[in-house]
Amino acid sequence: MSRHSVEIDGIRKAFGALTVLENISFDIHEGEFFSLLGPSGCGKTTLLRLIGGFEPPTSGRLLIDGQPVEGLPPEKRPTNTVFQSYALFPHLTVAENIGYGLRSLNMPKAEQEKVVKESLEMIRLSQLGGRKPHELSGGQRQRVALARALARRPKVLLLDEPLSALDKQLREEMQMELRRIQRQVGITFIFVTHDQEEALALSDRMAVMSAGRVLQIDAPDRIYEAPSSREVAAFIGSMN
Ligand code: ADP
Repeated sequence: MSRHSVEIDGIRKAFGALTVLENISFDIHEGEFFSLLGPSGCGKTTLLRLIGGFEPPTSGRLLIDGQPVEGLPPEKRPTNTVFQSYALFPHLTVAENIGYGLRSLNMPKAEQEKVVKESLEMIRLSQLGGRKPHELSGGQRQRVALARALARRPKVLLLDEPLSALDKQLREEMQMELRRIQRQVGITFIFVTHDQEEALALSDRMAVMSAGRVLQIDAPDRIYEAPSSREVAAFIGSMN
């Protein structure tokens, strides 16, 4: 797990006069479940969007598997994103939603069907491939969004608060499901959350952020047991 998947080197991001990320440098390892944790407005989503190539940093460098992220067209980017809002196509079936992103790949039809079938098995929805999104529960829709994002086998999956719209019980179920699927596919996951409990439960390592900076990066138990500052302790300790 020591190979670098994502290298973030001296990143700064400003929107006009507002600096939202300052001097961010760290690496994410291949196959790691990595969380960006911090209060609302601290810059987590902005950092995720830079990693996803949705917009460029003001300065600094971002590499995935040694390649610069900047300037790649969407279909060539090594990342894929799962949003909180799921963003499934309402008029397509579950199977069609999962297969959608495969159509632009140079993949034979039989191979596409195989990927969709395996994806449905992975999310344990093999029986529901013919349903439309509105015929699914919230948790099922979230699993379909996850399977769709994974179908193209990105090198890195970006997840922006994907569970925050779910109620507590479903959220805990989906946390276990996410962890299981991440282990199964072995892809690097970068997970944005403001929920300490969730980050502690899910992550191999996590970055605790505040006001555009990274305060500490480590495994959850080490951050919990040895916070590097009072600010980290206060934020992590506010879990009850
Ligand atoms: P988080 O994900 O931690 O809640 P964000 O990355 O969404 O934080 O936002 C960090 C800061 O950047 C906030 O102050 C937000 O208002 C600001 N911001 C984010 N995107 C833009 C944008 N496109 N233009 C101007 N300000 C932005």
